Amino acid sequence: MTLRKLALATPLAVGGTTFQPEQLTAIGSIVHPGTAIEMTPFKQLYVFVDESKLLEAEEELAKAGLRVLPTGSTTKNLQACNFCKGADEAGLPFALRLDEAITGLEVPIPIKIGYAGCALGTSEPLTKDISVVKMRDVYDLYVGGDVKGIKPKLAELFFSEIREEQVIPIILEMIDYYRTHAKGKEKFSKFIGRINLKEVINK
Ligand code: SF4
Repeated sequence: MTLRKLALATPLAVGGTTFQPEQLTAIGSIVHPGTAIEMTPFKQLYVFVDESKLLEAEEELAKAGLRVLPTGSTTKNLQACNFCKGADEAGLPFALRLDEAITGLEVPIPIKIGYAGCALGTSEPLTKDISVVKMRDVYDLYVGGDVKGIKPKLAELFFSEIREEQVIPIILEMIDYYRTHAKGKEKFSKFIGRINLKEVINK
């Protein structure tokens, strides 16, 4: 029997990353018996399902309101805050569009993209490879966070006060440039230390 690994996440929402009881029930009903469910650092659950039941499992999970995402070397789902200031003020509709645009893109090494609905940044945006911070009606964009290991590095301000419609194209351009110019499995934080990203990314 072949098992397939799936990454599961819940949609962004006011209140943060939460699972409903019926979602956990759906997960329990599709995982292969005897396999463990892993909570990853990306706010995802890894589960194993029987490959012959893959389509059925994906349908059940989607019906329960869960997102089935690719595993491996891809951009991860948006690591966002809890939108405590409310959906509009904290920018939930935009964060959902951003999440949709940037999740699951192939990259040499998985990268984390963060979002904070205000400058309090309770989602720790400066610890991510790329981060968006909503500053009232405009956005600040940070790049290069890498806090793994004993020499952590915080992301630095890359563009400030950019308009909402600029954010997604800029991030997609960055990811594409990283994918096509990284040396082997070069980390994003190292990559941007080696090249001048500002010379290739236009506002
Ligand atoms: S970043 Fe701001 S809006 Fe988001 S949860 Fe934290 S305090 Fe609330």
